[in-house]
Amino acid sequence: MSSFMRSRDLTLIQDLRTCTITRKGGSWYISMLVNIADALPDVKPLEKCKSIVGIDVGINKLIALSDGSFQENKRISTNKRTARRMAMRQRAISRKLKGSKNKIKAAKKLAKQQHKLAQHRDGYNWQVAKVVVDTADAVAKEDLNIKNMVKRAKPKHDGETALKEGFPPQATANPKGKGGYKRNNAAQKTGLNKVILDASWGAIFDKIAWLALKAGKPVVEVSARHTSQECPKCGHIDKKNRKGEKFLCTVCHHVDHADTKASRTIGKRVGLVFLKNKKTLPADCGKVTPSRHQSDWVETLVPCLRESSPCARNSDSWIFKRYGRTS
Ligand SMILES: [Zn+2]
Repeated sequence: MSSFMRSRDLTLIQDLRTCTITRKGGSWYISMLVNIADALPDVKPLEKCKSIVGIDVGINKLIALSDGSFQENKRISTNKRTARRMAMRQRAISRKLKGSKNKIKAAKKLAKQQHKLAQHRDGYNWQVAKVVVDTADAVAKEDLNIKNMVKRAKPKHDGETALKEGFPPQATANPKGKGGYKRNNAAQKTGLNKVILDASWGAIFDKIAWLALKAGKPVVEVSARHTSQECPKCGHIDKKNRKGEKFLCTVCHHVDHADTKASRTIGKRVGLVFLKNKKTLPADCGKVTPSRHQSDWVETLVPCLRESSPCARNSDSWIFKRYGRTS
């Protein structure tokens, strides 16, 4: 944070737009929105980028980079110790008398702790985003629908039991007490959702987009379809290709680290293809010469920037010119 503050040239500020004072977790914050003239560089066109880094986000490793390195997942609020402490604080609140001062005090304690964790996560995410953006001239990430990923488990109707008892499959309960539902591992899914939300992929993507924008580097979003199942060697797509952290192709027996491989697939899908005589170079070695776009996977380019951002509009124009897209 401190280096971030130091790098900011306050003399560039033209005028102050708004000033917001907020209180979070028992601390006061002042936030100022200022106008800075021409502070952002133009985003480099993808054709001129000499290297690209693909990133694959996950749970075991927070981010796998296509250069083979990893960023650890710190599990800020879902590690055993913190989760236990937070549960204790929560329980302490619920045990206090409704409307009492003690209840308010306990709630303040929890809020303070939650705020601390949020700040910790935020700071770590900035570090991770900086490493990613500094790796290459361009960043390729997958287009994840995180909102859909953290939906709760759907109820499973126990059709057979219900039908036997003369109830339609949609029956919500069985009068004989056998239950109209099968097990759907809802608790397991809830736990996974918590871990996904703790990893805060969306927040990391936002930070990467911002740091890349400041550095004039393009961020490319590609389809996330089969990134973890596709074999980089023979192109075979199979669920069985992946076993935990290991990738083993069922057809050509190509072996790789599953997350690293996924990040390389993402990098490749951007369409920075290798020269014919340099087929064995990894997509991120910096020696890749960008040539014709040969990928059907690219759906949107530089989408991570907010629509309101002026840079997003500028960089869109060259994308559409190049790929002939209108939407
Ligand atoms: Zn293969």
